[in-house]
Amino acid sequence: MSDAADRDSDRDPEFAFELRVCRWAERAWHPDGPRPAFVARQLGTRERRWDTVVVEVDPEAFAARRALSTDGFDSDLLRVVRHAPAEWAWYRDAVPEPDFPWRHVVPAVHRAAGLGLVEKRRGSRNRVEYRRTAPYPDWVERVVAIENKPDLDASAARALADQLEHDVSRALADEVWVATEVTGRRVEPALLEDLPVEVGILGVDGDSAEVLWHPSSLSPDPADARRRLVLAERAFDRGWRNYVDTMRPDCRHFELDRRGRALVPRCAAKDCYQSQRECAHSCPSFEPEPPAWRMKGWPIEGGPGKGVRRILEARRERERDRAERGSENA
Ligand code: SF4
Repeated sequence: MSDAADRDSDRDPEFAFELRVCRWAERAWHPDGPRPAFVARQLGTRERRWDTVVVEVDPEAFAARRALSTDGFDSDLLRVVRHAPAEWAWYRDAVPEPDFPWRHVVPAVHRAAGLGLVEKRRGSRNRVEYRRTAPYPDWVERVVAIENKPDLDASAARALADQLEHDVSRALADEVWVATEVTGRRVEPALLEDLPVEVGILGVDGDSAEVLWHPSSLSPDPADARRRLVLAERAFDRGWRNYVDTMRPDCRHFELDRRGRALVPRCAAKDCYQSQRECAHSCPSFEPEPPAWRMKGWPIEGGPGKGVRRILEARRERERDRAERGSENA
């Protein structure tokens, strides 16, 4: 890993900033005092995608959720697992009536059984019956959305205002923040006026962040409980380090660079923090890892590219362990 380079060499300052915000939130959530949580990025609904999502959890229930599976459940699987009965029952008696034909629920019952999440059998009249192997816990406490804007000047604030108004009025999240890079200047009152008062503002400075404006707690509609849970499951599945899935860690120039306490992708060939978009199959500077790298000192499963994935996955699991033990945030 190389030394931290100058911030000016970011090809995509928002991407690198976003990774730093995710890392900070993972370590230090919540600004008012430690709360067990995990972090994901680029998640949301069809109408709105958030940069960073923090899911606050009940540690004991989160441990039970992780014991069910280390992967997140898609909405079909969630429907079946969440409503799985303790005793054998016809699936139509257990699951709330969906807004699509019942027969589409059956594949999810088979899938859940294949994953060991439920047991299934043919009951009377050849009906598909199932029961749970363990209850689905009530593990999500709060869902928080953070919009990242390293350079929050007045025009950026105006551009964001409509989206944030939507977040506040829609109230799918319990709290909405904007994270911005601290500039050392006082925050202009006019700037704050452009943003909804309910939205909190975080000033990020290196590895720390300070609250420039406190958010209001929103009141999510109980009718959105399932949507919020689907979102939390997707966040659990993806985390925030999955950017590596669309980049080229198998390129010989790909590095993870330490910026404060975050690891950020860096391109040795271009001598910069490359953007997610340019570090792709189309990159003209891509060069595969030499085969020898895959032998020398790297386990049989792969070379440095695979090693990058393993490092990021290990970090994710370590942070999940920490959330499960309750908050030990620094
Ligand atoms: S050369 Fe291209 S593919 Fe390789 S690390 Fe740099 S940006 Fe990514």
